[in-house]
Amino acid sequence: MAWRDAMCGELRAEDAGRRVTVAGWTDTRRDHGGLVFVDLRDHTGKVQLVINPEHSAAAAETAHEIRNEFVLQATGEVVARAPELVNPNLSTGQIEVRVDELRILSRSTPLPFQLDEENVEETLRLRYRWLDMRTERMQRNLRLNHTAITAIRRVMDERGFVDVWTPTMTRGTPEGARDFLTPVRLQPGKFYALAQSPQLFKQLCMVGGIDRYYQIATCWRDEDLRADRQFEFRQLDLEMAFVEREDVLDVMEACVVGAFEAAGAEPPQRPFPHLTYADAMLRYGSDKPDLRFGLEIQDATEVTRGSEFGVFKNAPCVRYVVVPRTFSRSEQARLEEVAKEWGAKGLANLTQISKFLSEQELQAFGVEEGSTALFVADEEAVAARVLGLLRLHLAHELALIDTSLDAFHWVTDFPLFEHSEEYGGWTFMHHPFTASVPGEEERIEADPEHVLGQHYDLIWNGWELGSGSIRIHEAQVQQAVFRVMGMDEEEQRDKFGFLLDALQMGAPPHGGFAMGIDRFIALLAREPDIRQVTAFPKIASGADPLTGAPTPYPDSALKELGIRLLGPQLE
Ligand code: ASP
Repeated sequence: MAWRDAMCGELRAEDAGRRVTVAGWTDTRRDHGGLVFVDLRDHTGKVQLVINPEHSAAAAETAHEIRNEFVLQATGEVVARAPELVNPNLSTGQIEVRVDELRILSRSTPLPFQLDEENVEETLRLRYRWLDMRTERMQRNLRLNHTAITAIRRVMDERGFVDVWTPTMTRGTPEGARDFLTPVRLQPGKFYALAQSPQLFKQLCMVGGIDRYYQIATCWRDEDLRADRQFEFRQLDLEMAFVEREDVLDVMEACVVGAFEAAGAEPPQRPFPHLTYADAMLRYGSDKPDLRFGLEIQDATEVTRGSEFGVFKNAPCVRYVVVPRTFSRSEQARLEEVAKEWGAKGLANLTQISKFLSEQELQAFGVEEGSTALFVADEEAVAARVLGLLRLHLAHELALIDTSLDAFHWVTDFPLFEHSEEYGGWTFMHHPFTASVPGEEERIEADPEHVLGQHYDLIWNGWELGSGSIRIHEAQVQQAVFRVMGMDEEEQRDKFGFLLDALQMGAPPHGGFAMGIDRFIALLAREPDIRQVTAFPKIASGADPLTGAPTPYPDSALKELGIRLLGPQLE
């Protein structure tokens, strides 16, 4: 006999009279001495079972043993409920199953938390994830994950993309994070890095003539864990040959819209708006601005250049935001405190400094009654960053964000290089394989500070969903970028000899993108972090509460790998 021939949540009034077998978990059980009611649950929903000793003495006896989360198999007739017993809150609320055969397929020890309990501590949820996965929330999220990925795969397939599997264990890929290392027993002292992304392999696919590559690729990056970051995560990774930037953006937009449609959500309008990096930094103080609200940053540097107010006059950059409300002295002091924590020297409120300003300055700021202008005077990067953070902080505090909006947009035209505090030289902004804007190749070495790259980011409500670029496909240009980054010929050959060789053997122009699938799904599911859409995530310390990993290994195992631990061993 089949384990089941009907799903709990799918039985309706029309099924009355049918004899069915259902199987699932005990959601609740109400024992009225004689009659026992069980809400039986599978992923489609719940159905009420009625076990009456008058119908089956054996079933009634079994029913008294049932506890929450026992797995049951029940057979009986679907019967319509009396009108006064109809439960309008349940999709199956018009019927119940009058059980005459009942089997306990599996029992459960007392539960560490109830499935309908609110605010269960997250580590406990993760420790017993198999229970947590039975909740409606996790069922919905994991199934949404599947729906969205299936839709994306369909888009990729329709557009001729080929799913190519690339190695996990590889050489370090420069994506800006630390590598996870894997020692190699057969070559003690040497390590594979777990791929931070398939970046170079997908470029090699282009050289190899797979001109539309994609993969839902797992990537590993050793970074601190946050709401939108786990050590391992998945990317929709794609690469295309013989394309312009717009072709790549078009595919990505189609994937986003396809996933929205499959999830039954209202898709964002295409094409997504574009914002240049320079504009984003100026107006929003961030390269991933949340565009669901205004509070745009204004620049006052020109107007305040000749100011009587010393703080303005001497600052390389003066910027401000206008907030549609006034602040008390203590509120202002608190905001200033926060701004200082972000690195500002101060946060000037126009009302407090207006006596130092000229009529012309006041007019230029044009602040209406009931609004407040807050200024930062500092280096440009500090003014942008602090006001960008302040903008977000105030939007949350003052509930200025329209959470019903989905603001997707592209940020484009990033600088190719940024100055590295760590190395004191130039480093890549995206990764070293990004091409400059066409025609700017000469400036790569001549003027690295100002050369723009063909790099683009996709932003959704202030979350960076992913990045991509048009790549360098000429070895000599690639070498120029490496030189700007301070790599001599020997280091270039050592680290990237295979890439330089490939670029010299017929590399087509190409470009691509990678989108963090887990971030995307978390936002699609309206969840605050990616752990809620990941089956078995790790917690902030990097531990897995379920398996207890990571764990120490005995010295004998380490010795085989040529490894000896330094210092006191951590538990
Ligand atoms: N490999 C890049 C990343 O992981 C994406 C890309 O440039 O395609 O961010």
